Amino acid sequence: MDYDDFFTSLFLWLKQQEASNGGVFERTILAGGFEYKGTIVTLTGPTGIWIPKGFEVPVSITTTKGGPYNDDFSDDGILNYRYRGADPYHRDNRALREAFKRQTPLVYFYAIKKGKYQAVYPVQIISDNPGQLCIEAAIDPALLHKVHKDISLPFDTLGEENIFSVRRYLTRTTKVRLHQAAFREYVLDAYNRSCTICRLQHPELLDAAHIIPDAEEGGEPVVPNGLSLCKIHHSAYDQNIIGITPDYDLRVRGDILDEIDGPMLEYGLKAVEGQKIILPNRKQDYPDKDRLAKRFEEFGKVG
Ligand SMILES: [Zn+2]
Repeated sequence: MDYDDFFTSLFLWLKQQEASNGGVFERTILAGGFEYKGTIVTLTGPTGIWIPKGFEVPVSITTTKGGPYNDDFSDDGILNYRYRGADPYHRDNRALREAFKRQTPLVYFYAIKKGKYQAVYPVQIISDNPGQLCIEAAIDPALLHKVHKDISLPFDTLGEENIFSVRRYLTRTTKVRLHQAAFREYVLDAYNRSCTICRLQHPELLDAAHIIPDAEEGGEPVVPNGLSLCKIHHSAYDQNIIGITPDYDLRVRGDILDEIDGPMLEYGLKAVEGQKIILPNRKQDYPDKDRLAKRFEEFGKVG
């Protein structure tokens, strides 16, 4: 098996899929596998370390921890992945070691929620620790550049002395990206995948907006700090053209109400005044009243 060639094909396939699935893979798709030189290679299976038939190295490792926002990334930008069980010589653990020796890459599948994954690749194992029953892995900058020619790295050179900081940087930014994707999935699902202001149901036109921005206190990526909004209403909310009171009433900025223009202004913005937002089904997903109040103060200053 020419692993270099295989993984290059796999990464390109993942990239193609991401262009149409928005970066979220259904488990059935991954377990169904992809075709490589006339053979179907499965990408995930019942166990976290996945070695497809005929392979000596794993093709993927999958999140071991449960629940939203849990992953195997440490704060300093390294992926710590636990062995299967407590025997360092278990077949799966030996395969991880083999991948480390051969320096073959793999894919880390991060579970956003049950049955839905984001793919992190190309990941390289950078140390094998049988004593601690784990490996350390990180995104490999050189391989990343080979796969994603469009991603520009914020470093001019990829010299040996830089490689640690580059790896850490890439792995940390990946963690942020994964958590944002998880936030989006949870918020959109809570609102039945529609805009809370206008009901628009096209996921490709929907965002998970923060009520309190993520840089501020209370700005955590949790559903009660989120709103499912279409692109135009997301921008209108961020720009304080539309405000939401703690009682879920919609307000439109005064000068906008006085304007006269085409249907987007009339129906998309002005008609929203005095309406109520459409709440999620589950009470625990409702937008938090305190956060809405704090945010509405900002609107009050301009509205
Ligand atoms: Zn909308």
